[in-house]
Amino acid sequence: MTRRPEQPDVVIVGGGISGASAACRLAAGGLSVVLLEKQDAYRDLVRGEWLAPWGIREAQRLGVYDCFSAGGGWEIREWMTWDEAVAEDEVEAVDMTRFIPGIGGPMSFPHHSVCELMAEQAVASGARLVMDAAKIGVTAGPRPVVTYLTPGGAHELRPRIVLGATGRGNTVGRQIGVTMRNSMHHWGGGMMVEGLDSWPADVQAMGTEGDVMFMVFPQGYGRARLYLNFPTVNKHRYRGPGGVERFLAAFELDCLPDRGKAVTEAVPAGPLSVWPSVSSVPEVPPVVEGVVLIGDEAGNADTVLGTGLSCAMRDSRTVCDILLTSGDWSPKAFTPYVEERNFRLERLDFGASIISRLHVEFGPAAVERRRRVRRLMAKNFAAQVTGLLNMVAPEDVPEFGFSEFFAERLFRETA
Ligand SMILES: Cc1cc2nc3c(=O)[nH]c(=O)nc-3n(C[C@H](O)[C@H](O)[C@H](O)COP(=O)(O)OP(=O)(O)OC[C@H]3O[C@@H](n4cnc5c(N)ncnc54)[C@H](O)[C@@H]3O)c2cc1C
Repeated sequence: MTRRPEQPDVVIVGGGISGASAACRLAAGGLSVVLLEKQDAYRDLVRGEWLAPWGIREAQRLGVYDCFSAGGGWEIREWMTWDEAVAEDEVEAVDMTRFIPGIGGPMSFPHHSVCELMAEQAVASGARLVMDAAKIGVTAGPRPVVTYLTPGGAHELRPRIVLGATGRGNTVGRQIGVTMRNSMHHWGGGMMVEGLDSWPADVQAMGTEGDVMFMVFPQGYGRARLYLNFPTVNKHRYRGPGGVERFLAAFELDCLPDRGKAVTEAVPAGPLSVWPSVSSVPEVPPVVEGVVLIGDEAGNADTVLGTGLSCAMRDSRTVCDILLTSGDWSPKAFTPYVEERNFRLERLDFGASIISRLHVEFGPAAVERRRRVRRLMAKNFAAQVTGLLNMVAPEDVPEFGFSEFFAERLFRETA
């Protein structure tokens, strides 16, 4: 006798921040949930580890904030821009704790630990977690079909709805015909380090010098996530033997205190990952009959902005609210989600292009542009709107920050 396939309310494909947070919320809300994750255990995949204050608020609303704090969340209070275009006596700390009253500064955390805790919380709320799920197939429809393999054999599920949350791999999106318009401005690399004992523990830094744009996000106890952004022509620079050493040595910069010694002498504490920094905008709505995409799988802005995690949880919350408050799970019921997401991604994509042009372009003209923009910002406070782009939710940033007029003012080159 063949067994009838399991029929949960929701199958979530992908147990990252978007999928695992949705599993927590839906299971706590009383729905039957199966969460499928392809890794056999959560490992450092080198993903986002800087959560903006507006993302912290999303995590609180979803009921997953404790996973961040218990998973090693570390509050960052100040932001330093050390940059070849900024004279030493002009470097100023920006207080990051006051952008959203009651929230505090952004949070830095080990990504995979938080995902693991979220998956555990989902299970404690009644979800079924399947690790090591391979070859996932999704067929959309009024009663969608999900097939997958585990070391134990082949499986089939017939849920009421599937949430696709596999990130940039777009495993579900590709199967349901959601295509993306991709663009790439530069490449990036990231690595966890420890032994960063002389770095101020609650100070993040970014800046550009020569042909790298660097970021340092402390995670407490001498650990920090380091990122570099660099030109596409140098995409192989940190690959192959000696790549880790070259990556750390790239932080030996005149603009950093003590020429970056605190960082260059740190010890690698995870894999070095190098990637094309791609922004992906969906060409069709990320919703079809029986399937909704969330998180990076539904489209994402360039990582340089640091808003992907906040967006992943905003998606998760918006979609879960619809699933938990309405019996109508037809594509039409998700129109508010699709509209809000389009609006948000359009703004973030625009913001990321401004940040990339400003901070991830290199050479004398780019240095001069950064100097000119700093002077403009010092003269006209309104030009500092770019500083809000990742700290507060996109709908709370003044509209002119996303206008061609603003971009034209910002980038007008000197005659
Ligand atoms: C290097 C880097 C740095 C970043 N920095 C920041 C930052 O500082 N701040 C910020 O807000 N955002 C940042 N981002 C973006 C942020 O990491 C993403 O927006 C966020 O992780 C998206 O979450 P997600 O759950 O949608 O996708 P992912 O994090 O990609 O998670 C997808 C999950 O699905 C699983 N999966 C994939 N394929 C399958 C499959 N076929 N079957 C089953 N499971 C599958 C994966 O193993 C993973 O667990 C960064 C991204 C990168 C790559």
